[in-house]
Amino acid sequence: MDFTLNEEQLAIRDTCRAFAEQEIKPVAEEMDRTGDFPYTIIRKMGELGLLGLPFPEEYGGAGADFLSYCIAIEEISRGDTSVGITMEAHTSLGATPFYLFGSEEQKQRFLNPLASGQQLWAFGLTESEAGSDSGGTQTRAVLRNGSWHINGSKSFITNAGTDMTAGVTITAVTGQRSDGHKEITNIIVPKHTPGYIIGNPYKKMGWKASDTRPLTFEDCTVPEEDILGKRGEGFRQFMHILDAGRIAIAALSVGLAQACLDEALSYAKERKQFGQPISKFQAIQFKLADMDTEIELARLMYYKAAWLHMQGRPFSREASMAKLFASETAKRAADQAVQIHGGYGFMDEYPVSRYWRSVKVNEIGEGTSEVQRMVIAKHLGC
Ligand SMILES: Cc1cc2nc3c(=O)[nH]c(=O)nc-3n(C[C@H](O)[C@H](O)[C@H](O)COP(=O)(O)OP(=O)(O)OC[C@H]3O[C@@H](n4cnc5c(N)ncnc54)[C@H](O)[C@@H]3O)c2cc1C
Repeated sequence: MDFTLNEEQLAIRDTCRAFAEQEIKPVAEEMDRTGDFPYTIIRKMGELGLLGLPFPEEYGGAGADFLSYCIAIEEISRGDTSVGITMEAHTSLGATPFYLFGSEEQKQRFLNPLASGQQLWAFGLTESEAGSDSGGTQTRAVLRNGSWHINGSKSFITNAGTDMTAGVTITAVTGQRSDGHKEITNIIVPKHTPGYIIGNPYKKMGWKASDTRPLTFEDCTVPEEDILGKRGEGFRQFMHILDAGRIAIAALSVGLAQACLDEALSYAKERKQFGQPISKFQAIQFKLADMDTEIELARLMYYKAAWLHMQGRPFSREASMAKLFASETAKRAADQAVQIHGGYGFMDEYPVSRYWRSVKVNEIGEGTSEVQRMVIAKHLGC
């Protein structure tokens, strides 16, 4: 067993670490306060190839492996998770479906500008009545005269409304299967399609500079050929997309947990009480040691899940475990980081208060902690 990162993985880690330190961290507080989408940062990331890391160069990508992509998400999220989730949702949810299931023509037309960082793309699965129960999709698409006519709505869709966004791929019910279940198909909806209405951004507790919106489809019409793969394959496709996405969300959580440890450690070494730095008190040392241990474990868990994925081996169980453990590790780390800061941790001028607000969503997005436990229990044969 060899845990050494190769040269390319190290280079990507170092590039992203430096970018987060120099370009993201200095403006993270302002982004959180204003909620403005970070166009300058995202465009620079596109120029660096960070918005198409795991895709081949022939489709505008950087040709890196999946673990490198996850390590990049960890480092960018260590700088700020609004930027981390923008990169993750664009890559794992927006661009990957084109790469895995798109025709050659769709890859050239849609994936190329996404992987090269000129455009962003969103993936719309969640609806008001279809959250954890993702098969509960009610949005319908009817095929008439060579076009899909879509009616319905989607909730909480990341990257749907930025100026850089070119469109969304949505799940829609397109019929009924022979076993009585809904036939679900993934349909490509470019931004200015008539009948596609992008709502105002939600006001959120964290990830404030990321773009999250409700979407409505009112007799929205797209050509018959603008579906991913074959009609009726939508459910299988998004289950696969979500499994891999969970590894990247685990990496995002590890990045945030690491940022909590970075801040807590540096504060503990500076803050003096009873005549010495609080880092000299065993009670504080044990908190820091527990954070470091859990972060290392969560990192190894997402490394393993990414490795299985790269080997073409089953990885659903390990992806859910990594996402579950990493998001709960990040929550504990944020909590302890605030505790170590005392009253100052409750004040907005210290980053840990922002981390504490932002960390909660990691246990909700791309499958709640309960859903991850359901997946793991299913693998146990329950
Ligand atoms: C900031 C943000 C960004 C998002 N971005 C996207 C996006 O880009 N695309 C997209 O499609 N979606 C997106 N989502 C949606 C996200 O994936 C859902 O919020 C999530 O899957 C949970 O669905 P829900 O909110 O409807 O909660 P619900 O499913 O209503 O769950 C409510 C509670 O009940 C629990 N629960 C539900 N069913 C069970 C069960 N069978 N057993 C035990 N407990 C259960 C849940 O775990 C949770 O605690 C985003 C959400 C947020 C907050």
